[in-house]
Amino acid sequence: MTAARPLAAVLPGPKHAPEVRAFEPPRPLPGGAVLETVASEVCGTDVHLFHGRLAGVPWPIIPGHVSVGRVLETNGPLRDVEGDAILPGRLVTFYDVFGACGSCWHCLVGKAATRCPQRRVYGITTSADDGLLGGWAERIELRPGVRVLPLPDGLDAEDFMGGGCGLPTGFHAVERAGIVLGDTVVVQGTGPVGLNAIVFASLAGALRVLAVGAPAARLEAARRLGAEDAMDVTVVTEPAARVRWILDRTRGRGADVVIEASGNPAAVPEGLEMTRDAGRYVVVGQYADAGDATLNPHRHLNRRHVTLLGCWGYEYTHLHRAVLLMARYNGRFRWRELITREYSLADAAVALEDMERLRVVKALIRP
Ligand SMILES: [Zn+2]
Ligand SMILES: [Zn+2]
Repeated sequence: MTAARPLAAVLPGPKHAPEVRAFEPPRPLPGGAVLETVASEVCGTDVHLFHGRLAGVPWPIIPGHVSVGRVLETNGPLRDVEGDAILPGRLVTFYDVFGACGSCWHCLVGKAATRCPQRRVYGITTSADDGLLGGWAERIELRPGVRVLPLPDGLDAEDFMGGGCGLPTGFHAVERAGIVLGDTVVVQGTGPVGLNAIVFASLAGALRVLAVGAPAARLEAARRLGAEDAMDVTVVTEPAARVRWILDRTRGRGADVVIEASGNPAAVPEGLEMTRDAGRYVVVGQYADAGDATLNPHRHLNRRHVTLLGCWGYEYTHLHRAVLLMARYNGRFRWRELITREYSLADAAVALEDMERLRVVKALIRP
C-alpha cells in the first residue's frame, strides 16, 4: 500500500474531537527511519490528553505513543542494541521517549533519565506541526536516536500491542517493588498497567497475587493472568470493606507488596492500609494529576515502617526486557486476548470514548 499523502488522526486541542488530516510523506533524516504503521494503541493517557489533563502538550498532536510498524525506509544503517542491522520490511516497535540529553543534571548526576527536561515522547509531547510523530497515522517518522526494537521471532504485532505501554510500565512497577520469592502482592487497578503488573509479579516470584478493580471483563482478565482472587470495587464500595477483604486473605497482616495502578488518588491511603508492616507500596497509576489524597503519617507511614515508592515512565531497558519475557511467556499469558476492539483513524473519537467508559480492556488504532 502506498500512501501518497499519509493520513493521521489529529487532536487539535483539549476537548476537540480528533480530525483525520493528510500529511506530507515523511523522509527519514540521516540515522532515522520511516515506519508503515501496523497498529497503535489507545490508552488512558490518551483520554487524559483529550481532556487536557496533561501539562505542556504542544497542540495539535497525533496521539499514539506505543506502536508497531514495518520499516519502510531508512537513511543510513539502522541498528538494534545488539548492533544488528534492522532492514526494511522488519516488524518493529520503538522506545517512545527520545531526546534525553545525556548531559544534564537529571541524566548525569541524578541518574533520573525519565525526568530529563529535554526528553520528548511520541504522541504526547511531539507536535503534529513537526511531522508524523505519533502512532495514529499511516506512517511514523523515527527521528535519529530513537531506539528501535525488532519484535522477536514468534511475536506478532497483535501480541505486542495486547501489552502496549502497560507492558513496560507494569514491568517497571514490579522492578521498583522489589518483589521477592514467596511474596503476596496486591495490585490496585485492573487496566493494562495493573494487568501487566499481575503478570510480572508472578514471574518475579510472587506466591499470590490479589487484584482490586473493575469492571467484570478486566477482573476476568486479571484472573486469567494469574490473580488468585479479584475484588470488584463496584460491588465492594466501602474503603474499609475493601481493606478487610485483603486482610481476610492475609491473616490480618496485609500484603508484602501493594502496587497502585488505578489512577484514583483515594486508592493510595486505602492501599497503604492493605500493606503489611515493613511492606512496600508502589504508586504507578497517578500519571495525570487527579487530585489530592489525605494520608495519616503516623498510621500509614511511620508506625507501618513502610517503604513508599513512586514510579515514573519507563526506560528502554524495561521495554527491552519486557518484550523478551513476552516472547518467552506468550503461550501462557496470551497478551493479544486483551485486545477488545480495533478502530480506524476515522473512529478515533469512538475509541477514546470506549476507553474512557472502560468498555474495552485494550483498544487499538489500525491506520
Ligand atoms: Zn538530560
Ligand atoms: Zn500509554
